[in-house]
Amino acid sequence: MLHINNLQKSFGELAVLNGVNLEVAQQEVLVIIGPSGSGKSTLLRCVNHLEPPTGGEIYLEGVLINDTTKSRRAFESHLNRIRCEVGMVFQQFNLFPHMTVLENIMEAPIQVLGVRREEARQAAISLLDRVGLADKMDNYPCMLSGGQQQRVAIARALAMKPKVMLFDEVTSALDPELVGDVLRVMEGLARDGMTMLVVTHEMGFAEKVGDRVIFMADGLVVEDAPPQEIFSAPKEARTRQFLAEVL
Ligand code: ATP
Ligand code: MG
Repeated sequence: MLHINNLQKSFGELAVLNGVNLEVAQQEVLVIIGPSGSGKSTLLRCVNHLEPPTGGEIYLEGVLINDTTKSRRAFESHLNRIRCEVGMVFQQFNLFPHMTVLENIMEAPIQVLGVRREEARQAAISLLDRVGLADKMDNYPCMLSGGQQQRVAIARALAMKPKVMLFDEVTSALDPELVGDVLRVMEGLARDGMTMLVVTHEMGFAEKVGDRVIFMADGLVVEDAPPQEIFSAPKEARTRQFLAEVL
């Protein structure tokens, strides 16, 4: 459902993605690992066009995301649609501090999708239930733990009914005892059939929930294999070296 072909991205002189090729099937959970600076975040940010690629193509269900042949106006509305279809959650949760948990989740469906208030409310409540926080709906983000805020951020992304979800180190800023709850929500999502691209250092999660793991280095996919294979018998020397450092 996601097809990435020879993706390139440079920041000025700095080449960050050097021809990434990737295929992600519907309902697949792809885990992305690799050293700092290897281009993992940039790859995810290109998928929802937070970064415009310098070269190559990204297709979501056959639709070219970085379609430069469109007029500016047409591209903007195209991009709005893509942003609804591709949900993203970051290391920093970035909830709206002046809105309650429930309002945080209702905001985009009402403003962007034009969903009616009551409908948005019911959907938000059921999403909060799904992430185990129905009892927190009237709280403000500052009253929640980091792990709870991150689960609200996941619910907020899901409220747009995305076709694919991107997770960029969503547990890295959390205290260790809060990580498990967030990973369990992600595991539940995977079980429900969400297509997911997950950048993480949680190798246990990668092994248990991932359908495939890719190892990136220097802006390239160095190895692409099922988790059992990549963790027990990595083929590439660079993968072995990386895993020896992190495991
Ligand atoms: P980490 O594991 O530390 O999060 P990463 O694999 O996610 O690393 P990226 O954030 O994709 O790496 O960054 C890849 C390279 O691109 C780095 O050298 C980074 O400094 C550079 N880079 C990323 N964003 C920008 C930007 N907006 N402007 C200039 N350089 C950037
Ligand atoms: Mg990163």
